[in-house]
Amino acid sequence: MKIWLDGGLQDSESARVSVFDHGLTVGDGIFETVKAADGRPFALTRHLDRLTRSARGLGLPDPDHDEVRRACAAVLEANPMPLGRLRITYTGGHGPLGSDRGEHGPTLVVALGATIRRPDSTAVITVPWTRNERGALTGLKTTSYAENVVALARAREQGASEALFGNTVGQLCEGTGSNVFVVLDGEIHTPPLASGCLAGITRALAIDWTGAEETDLPLDVLERADEVFLTSTLRDVQAVHRVDDRELPGAPGPVTAKAMRIFEERSGDDLDP
Ligand code: PLP
Repeated sequence: MKIWLDGGLQDSESARVSVFDHGLTVGDGIFETVKAADGRPFALTRHLDRLTRSARGLGLPDPDHDEVRRACAAVLEANPMPLGRLRITYTGGHGPLGSDRGEHGPTLVVALGATIRRPDSTAVITVPWTRNERGALTGLKTTSYAENVVALARAREQGASEALFGNTVGQLCEGTGSNVFVVLDGEIHTPPLASGCLAGITRALAIDWTGAEETDLPLDVLERADEVFLTSTLRDVQAVHRVDDRELPGAPGPVTAKAMRIFEERSGDDLDP
């Protein structure tokens, strides 16, 4: 597998990042996961814009979009696969053993993994831990993902594939790697960005394409929603057939099924002007 590091392609087996890289020592980094079908990245411009927003939120230098585009193209060309996930990682770079940033510039790594289509529906759990809707990292796609790793492991133990967080004021927020939508009386709702959720690229498309409303939702909306679905780059739209002990028989319900069809029809749209 060829990956991009230090301005060029390298073999993933021999590529090396410093053990003092702040992405490793203090989680000072950001990332993007970009879907690529037949060597073509989907919505890359939106991902690059979010990468820049995350970099600015952390106080990292703006990533060079031209370099990241070149890196993605080179990695895709070197590793042909029908359905892949590009992983763009951008860290604070080599630094001292504390939390102060070093003099070195950031580290950019672009790698590619295979991916598969997710099942049409899945089980989710809610977790007792909260998202902080007012933290320094709120809404940034940072590599500080350990909380998501812990929550996802809890979901797996319970036969689910995603864990949903509320925020500190008891509102529904998001999943470990997805945004959440609920259907109430035929209308689609999703938590607003002020809930502390990530500005998911699929979330924004779902809002545009389905007319979903951004609404403050109490966490217990999951006990009464007619339908629940998740959105993310690697899922598009995925129905939820169980939340904790509550079964949602017949998932995907009619509203979710329509959203899935819209994504199927439009996922070839060119979103990269
Ligand atoms: N929320 C979190 C915490 C995520 O990590 C992700 C994606 O990985 C999402 C939401 C969905 O975002 P996107 O649709 O851009 O993949």
